Amino acid sequence: MTCAVIVGAGPAGIRAAQTLVAHGLRPVLLDEAARAGGQIYRRPPAHFERPAEKLYGTEAGRARAVHAAIDGIAERIDYRPDSLVWSAQPGRLDVLDAASGSTRAVAYDRVIVATGATDRILPVPGWTLPGVYGLGGAQVALKFQGCAIGGRVVFMGSGPLLYLVAYQYAKAGAEVVAVLDTAALSDQVAALPRMLGQPATLAKGLFYVAWLRAHGVALHGGVRPVRVMGDERVDGVVFHDGTAERTLACDAVGFGHALRSETQLADLLGCRFAFAPMQRAHLPERDAAGRSSVPGVYLAGDGAGIMGADAAEWAGERAALALLQDDGVAVDAARATSLEKRLSRIGSFRRGLERAFPFPEDWAAQAPDELVVCRCENITAGDLRAVVRCTGADEMNRLKALSRVGMGRCQGRMCGAAAAELLAHAAGVPVAQVGRLRGQAPIKPIPMGLVVAPETAS
Ligand SMILES: Cc1cc2nc3c(=O)[nH]c(=O)nc-3n(C[C@H](O)[C@H](O)[C@H](O)COP(=O)(O)OP(=O)(O)OC[C@H]3O[C@@H](n4cnc5c(N)ncnc54)[C@H](O)[C@@H]3O)c2cc1C
Repeated sequence: MTCAVIVGAGPAGIRAAQTLVAHGLRPVLLDEAARAGGQIYRRPPAHFERPAEKLYGTEAGRARAVHAAIDGIAERIDYRPDSLVWSAQPGRLDVLDAASGSTRAVAYDRVIVATGATDRILPVPGWTLPGVYGLGGAQVALKFQGCAIGGRVVFMGSGPLLYLVAYQYAKAGAEVVAVLDTAALSDQVAALPRMLGQPATLAKGLFYVAWLRAHGVALHGGVRPVRVMGDERVDGVVFHDGTAERTLACDAVGFGHALRSETQLADLLGCRFAFAPMQRAHLPERDAAGRSSVPGVYLAGDGAGIMGADAAEWAGERAALALLQDDGVAVDAARATSLEKRLSRIGSFRRGLERAFPFPEDWAAQAPDELVVCRCENITAGDLRAVVRCTGADEMNRLKALSRVGMGRCQGRMCGAAAAELLAHAAGVPVAQVGRLRGQAPIKPIPMGLVVAPETAS
């Protein structure tokens, strides 16, 4: 029997596992989190008792369905929570077991990589102060631990998550001082025709905005974040509203500019990448069914391009069907085609979202020299510009070698997008041209005293 491994127990990985089980396979499902559900349907610790409606709001029904899907196949898969895949090579994944602190190799014939996304961070002066969180991080605190990042919070950046998290915080009782969006109302209006294709999702977005407004939360569009203020920790935010600089007092900031795909495993597995203009990032290539350029490696969900939770479920199922088809198993071809059609339709909506919340193209030009870009290695925008000026570097890995940007704990997962923008601007080339930081193991921090399980020591 084929040894199929899935990395990531979010909506994509869970639907993939369910599909493989339905066709008689017993996949291994690895996830670094303690409980399955992924980012959107993240489950709190077992003894927490907040009801699904409070945790997931309008998504409570979908969350229940995804949780029921994984619970329903629990006996028929080899599910390993707390298992971080920190390295990969053809046919083998290296997995850190959080409980024992030991690492072991997991062999596979076919692997579905469904590793999701994280916040895309465009630093602003002061972003390293205690009290500043990524938007996703702010939401994780609320969903997983039922706590807020502060009592008076400003949310800043852009993207649909901005309004959703602000809404969730306000509903949970935090004072949301303001939402500062770098996108302007005119962007959202221009995006409307494309977004009408998914009326329910559009309606949810409009509802969050209307609710925030109705509850007295100040919403500012078309802003430019200037700096986060504070000595020991955050005590305010300065932004430019198009005519003048304004200051808001707060004790926490949640910020981010949409999401970035977690692509390192696909990279280590040898998948071919291409620049995706919509997401301003290099992403692993995949066909409509989720096959990567490497036979036996399949890609699903936000880890291969940000498409949202519903699309992640469909892509997970479609990738699993592709795996089965490649194994010679008969699958429901009509279902496969219908999934591909749905994915293609949602692609148009995603393009609308990017239009509604466009990337702030002037970010690199505005970034002051003293702005810390890589907080692991304390590299500033000025340091990066100096490297370009002195060496003529115009490629990301060259910039890394010469400046150490992306060489620290996060391996460029937090600073890579911003560094690429700065490099492109300083070198006077399009961001597509500067390439991407090559994935390096360990892709996430692992303990120094790692114990290698005896059977995999070689
Ligand atoms: C922090 C955050 C909050 C979000 N909140 C919302 C929201 O409220 N509403 C909304 O509509 N969308 C939200 N999104 C987007 C939404 O979560 C995604 O569209 C959807 O979850 C994608 O599903 P997925 O299965 O592709 O990935 P995910 O749900 O992200 O699942 C990926 C899984 O892979 C695991 N993983 C990643 N790397 C490894 C590794 N190396 N080893 C082992 N396991 C690994 C992760 O632990 C995770 O469980 C959020 C995204 C983020 C990043």
